Amino acid sequence: MAHIIDGRKWAAKSRQETAVDVARLAESGVRPGLCVIIVGENPASLSYVKGKEKAATEVGIVSTLVRLDAGISEADLLRVVHEKNEDPACHGILVQLPLPPHIDPLTVIQAIDPKKDVDGFHTTNAGALAVGLSSLIPCTPLGVMKLLAYEGIETRGTHAVIVGRSNIVGKPLAHLLLQADATVSICHSRTRDLAAITRTADLLIAAVGRPGMITADMVKSGAVVIDVGINRVESGLVGDVDFSSVSDKAGAITPVPRGVGPMTIAMLLQNTVQAAQAARV
Ligand code: NAP
Repeated sequence: MAHIIDGRKWAAKSRQETAVDVARLAESGVRPGLCVIIVGENPASLSYVKGKEKAATEVGIVSTLVRLDAGISEADLLRVVHEKNEDPACHGILVQLPLPPHIDPLTVIQAIDPKKDVDGFHTTNAGALAVGLSSLIPCTPLGVMKLLAYEGIETRGTHAVIVGRSNIVGKPLAHLLLQADATVSICHSRTRDLAAITRTADLLIAAVGRPGMITADMVKSGAVVIDVGINRVESGLVGDVDFSSVSDKAGAITPVPRGVGPMTIAMLLQNTVQAAQAARV
């Protein structure tokens, strides 16, 4: 049976570290402020946003929720983003995705001041990450790297295979793993013979959005398996990895829930504090 990586435990540790940073900032009169903007009433989004607000408040970040009607025009949403860009009490801005179909998410992301882009999705931050400059890094990939670090899992020289090439998970994670000296393969829906590639992975990361698609026959014995997927099925939340079979073969594995998810929120808090620290200088 694989070692189960306890994301909830490590996220709590990370939040404690962030709370210490918040207290240090308070000594110089700064209270980090996070503004979360949500458009519409998507229940999953509302639940994510509430989780983020609660976690922020617990570490001493001032969290402001801006709830906007699903029918808001793109121009009006952009006006709200610009207002928050100018608000000195707001150090981090997060626009919860997905947005209603009449609003282009890229236009909205690009309107956020890159210094306040705590999701790390703005092209300024994505570009900085790609060339190895300091930047605000997308929370989920950052959370995966922190989990690996907390667990003492070596990445140098390993073959890391990422299944999924999205801008919010797969691509930024590939950059981070390259920077951590892994040899990185990125797979996607057009990859031929996916299993032949995943079987060569020392570190296998699934970020696809297909319940249980990574099965034991796709995993090398003893591999570290990180399941980023969050899929709502009848029985509740499941990942992209078939946990019951893969956990018998892997060396270590993250569960869903209580794996990568809590780390994502913890990294949002860390990014907000980083943005507040940078604003002080
Ligand atoms: P996404 O934008 O939909 O990207 C999915 C990726 O999977 C795409 O690159 C797609 O390939 C690839 N893919 C789809 N079917 C495939 C197949 N049969 N074989 C190989 N690759 C396949 O998704 P995302 O936003 O990256 O999210 C991925 C998953 O992570 C979702 O379940 C999401 O809910 C979850 N997630 C979790 C967290 C967290 O905090 N734990 C955060 C973010 C996302 P193409 O590019 O060729 O289409």
